Amino acid sequence: MPPVVTDAIVLHAFDYLESSRILKLVTRDAGVRSVLARGARRSKRRFGAALDLFAQGTAELHVKPGRDLDTLAGFDVTRARPQLAATLPRFAGANAIAELTLRFGGDDANAELFDTVAATLDTIAASMGDTAREATLAGAWRVLADLGVAPTIDACAECHGPIDVDAPALFSHPAGGVVCARCGHLARSARTLPAAARAALRGWLDGAAPLVTLDANDARAHQRLLREFVREHLADDRPLRAFENWEQETLMPRVAGGAA
Ligand SMILES: [Zn+2]
Repeated sequence: MPPVVTDAIVLHAFDYLESSRILKLVTRDAGVRSVLARGARRSKRRFGAALDLFAQGTAELHVKPGRDLDTLAGFDVTRARPQLAATLPRFAGANAIAELTLRFGGDDANAELFDTVAATLDTIAASMGDTAREATLAGAWRVLADLGVAPTIDACAECHGPIDVDAPALFSHPAGGVVCARCGHLARSARTLPAAARAALRGWLDGAAPLVTLDANDARAHQRLLREFVREHLADDRPLRAFENWEQETLMPRVAGGAA
């Protein structure tokens, strides 16, 4: 089989045996892949300056049908993103995005997912302070959309009836988005989504709106909504540790500030 040459981003990396590394990549043309980079800790020439977390470049993969682990023949790094490791909010957010992508991305080609991950990591890398959290929220919802589970925002998820843009709406996770008052009565569970929160969600899903700035309470409500939606529509039984760490991390400044 000829090698697969594709754009790729390192989303997880660990050392393997004496000189190698095992990487988990999201790729443009071959979905999510686990790859063995033989001799990666010795051969800078073959694998570029660094096969570090969140590095992006052109990967050459040898894929054997029926094998879980591909072989990485080369990785030409074009973007290293060291800024993601510079602050905890950035690093926690980038790891949450990586975890969602690796867990649910699958091995089918998904160019939209690749582009979303690349753009989200760039936005998080450039973020200052709390905007890392908003950038992560925005990126996570777009990852979900690229995985085919975007929430319905502008019409009732059950009956497709119109829903007033400027009013609070009921959001039902089982229904997959906002529901009208009539369908909300029948929903197993629904929480109220203020108009501003719905507008933020719409902007993030569109990818067009500039990032909003959320106060701590709103940010936590958005994180909870995202977590519940992931659990309803994607999650298996395994915990999403990076996602949990990200939620915990964003609580820390408030605790450290002595708000209690
Ligand atoms: Zn309805």
